[in-house]
Amino acid sequence: MGIIGAGQLALMMGEVGHDVGVETIVLATSRDEPASLSGDEVLLGEAKDPVALTNLANASQVITFDHELVDLELIVTLEREGIAVRPGSHALRFAVDKAYQRRRFLEAALPVPQFVIVKSNTDPSLEPFLEKLSNEPVLKAPRGGYDGRGVLFPRSREETLSMIEQLSVSGEVLVEERLELDGEVAQLIVRGVDGEVALYPLVTTVQSQGMCVEVRYPAEVSEAIAAQSGVLARRIASLVEGVGVLAIEFFVANEELFINEIALRPHNSGHWTIEGAATSQFANHLLAVSGQALGDTSAIVANAVMVNVVGGDEPSSPQAAREVSGIFVHDYAKAWRPGRKLGHVTSVGDDAHEAHVRAWQGARAYGTVMKEV
Ligand code: ADP
Repeated sequence: MGIIGAGQLALMMGEVGHDVGVETIVLATSRDEPASLSGDEVLLGEAKDPVALTNLANASQVITFDHELVDLELIVTLEREGIAVRPGSHALRFAVDKAYQRRRFLEAALPVPQFVIVKSNTDPSLEPFLEKLSNEPVLKAPRGGYDGRGVLFPRSREETLSMIEQLSVSGEVLVEERLELDGEVAQLIVRGVDGEVALYPLVTTVQSQGMCVEVRYPAEVSEAIAAQSGVLARRIASLVEGVGVLAIEFFVANEELFINEIALRPHNSGHWTIEGAATSQFANHLLAVSGQALGDTSAIVANAVMVNVVGGDEPSSPQAAREVSGIFVHDYAKAWRPGRKLGHVTSVGDDAHEAHVRAWQGARAYGTVMKEV
């Protein structure tokens, strides 16, 4: 299996490859990238370079992704040449372009925050939209953003207009209502080549500064919300038609779910499944993409808490975290840099509070700059 990108997701895919009969070849920009450690082979090249993609395709039976920072046209070209790409370009378009995603979900009557897509701050649809809102909107660059990069929260009308002007230099701007959030949850659904789906249990995600800092299983929501999430996930999966893991991030507001965004790959909100579920999201992604039957997605623990480790001002290492008892430490083998996701820590057990405390203890020992929310 060729994997475009060699970050921590590809690293964790490679770690389970042999368990599910899959050899991985990662396309990395340098040998220092995380997945160089677990891939059976490493090819050096850029995700947007046609020559590198052809080399990867020639060496693989099927291609999948570590990230969506790809050139869709090149992916379409590979498909035309008969290369198996999973998820395919049709599905990937949803994750590559948030504006496309919002439009398609709205057309399908799926719940999304109210939005407009504009090309400049003088776009005629902007003023009437802003007038409808009770506070300033959230602004998003439809392409290339992750971990809150490309998401802006203006505090005044003046700021809204000037930020739209800045963002519009690189293309369309997604302007959406700022919801009063009761929380955020994530739903993972795996889809096989034959359209079979399997749902992981819903989890709560906790954000700080636009970045996910903690994930908790089980989700702290009503049964009605959990059921609604399952129904929406099945509808989204059949609309998008991806193969592999599909991650859906939902906003919870007024006892209702709104789709924030989707990803067509294993996702940060599913790292807990490595220790907490019968089949991890990484194993299931490889099973689906390689055309095998999907694995059991049930939880095998009562509680799981995953905390991300984000680099602070001082270099840190996972060593001290390994001395904290009752936690699993995942080191992405990345060079330390402030603001960079360096690893994650998971704690499982019968007591939700204890799992939370231990996971944070581990993350702090590892040197995370993020504060417990
Ligand atoms: P990214 O793609 O970079 O992860 P998101 O679109 O998920 O960015 O936004 C990051 C965070 O910003 C969200 O998890 C949420 O906490 C907050 N956010 C984004 N959009 C809205 C919105 N419409 N209303 C309220 N909060 C929002």
